[in-house]
Amino acid sequence: MDYRRFLREDIDALEEYAPVKPLDVLAEEIGLPVGQLVKLDANENLYGAPAAVYDAIADADLHIYPDPGQTHLREAIADYVGCVTPEQVVGGTGADDLIDLVLRLTLPEKVAVVTPAFGMYSFLAKINRVQPIEVPRRPADFSLDIDALRAAVDDGARIVFLTSPNNPTGNALPLEQVRAVCEMDALVIIDEAYIEFGGESAAPLLAEFSNLVILRTFSKWAGIAGLRVGYALCDPGFAKLMMAIKQPYNVNVAADVAARAAIEHRAEIAETVRALIAERGRMVRLVSELGWLHPLPSDANFVLFKVEARPAKLVAKGLRQQGVLVRYYDRPDLANYIRISAGRPEDTDRLVTALKKLETA
Ligand SMILES: *Cc1c(COP(=O)(O)O)cnc(C)c1O
Repeated sequence: MDYRRFLREDIDALEEYAPVKPLDVLAEEIGLPVGQLVKLDANENLYGAPAAVYDAIADADLHIYPDPGQTHLREAIADYVGCVTPEQVVGGTGADDLIDLVLRLTLPEKVAVVTPAFGMYSFLAKINRVQPIEVPRRPADFSLDIDALRAAVDDGARIVFLTSPNNPTGNALPLEQVRAVCEMDALVIIDEAYIEFGGESAAPLLAEFSNLVILRTFSKWAGIAGLRVGYALCDPGFAKLMMAIKQPYNVNVAADVAARAAIEHRAEIAETVRALIAERGRMVRLVSELGWLHPLPSDANFVLFKVEARPAKLVAKGLRQQGVLVRYYDRPDLANYIRISAGRPEDTDRLVTALKKLETA
């Protein structure tokens, strides 16, 4: 019997998500040693996690299943966030897991995705047979078009996916706009994956709006993207339902202790966050000086540059051949842009050298 007979009918319509590849795989593809690659394509903290995080994993009881109730992790996160109780926190296998959970808990016909956006919203919507409606930001500055969003909600979108600061454009939402969106007749997801780098958190609005869900992650600020820890902040009742339908052991033992160690040692990590923010400024200055890459203002640990005079796609390719990895998006609204993560000073230096080499190529 042919297995294809048993597949879901929409299987051919599902697009594959194109995630960034790990360094060793890329090194092999490009033909350079891993140590020569400059990884500015996935907004990771290139300073890595503090030693205390590695120590916590070394001491963990890996032969025992994790706590499905996430007791200590939820307490630690509530303490870290400040204005929520542990009952308002749900941990996940990265923020991606929480996006999927919210969709599976609600299963609306349609959701609104404010674009350009992080690709997982539409990807996971389609996997769950939910139709994503794209609501474009304004082309000039990628600001939110509230009226267009309201029209999508009026048209039946029951979840709104918004990111602040936004990936890949870098701009944060003013809290007053978040408030206006929360007053719409929809579940409002504010993805704050980059909130440690800038922008104003919507967390204080949780006390006012039970239709607000905030997503956060340890992947970008804490240097543990590889461990996959994210969390949702929401109404306690909604949190209870998410806890009820999640994979019981979605946060594994190593991820659990590492995330808690990161919170405990947040002052040390904050130094690397400050360094990355400073380096974002230096990168903007040096790259802009070349004259053909124009930065958008960023509150995150990356910058979206508009590329002039040459195809952005070829710039990304030319950098890659030199071992410098940046993000190019094959979609019309971002055809002339590349996104570059902020790294360490030596990463910026390699980037600038490689860009200059492209000028003479
Ligand atoms: C990177 C990113 C995430 C993914 O977070 P994980 O916790 O690593 O799954 C979520 N949202 C946005 C906007 C991101 O850029």
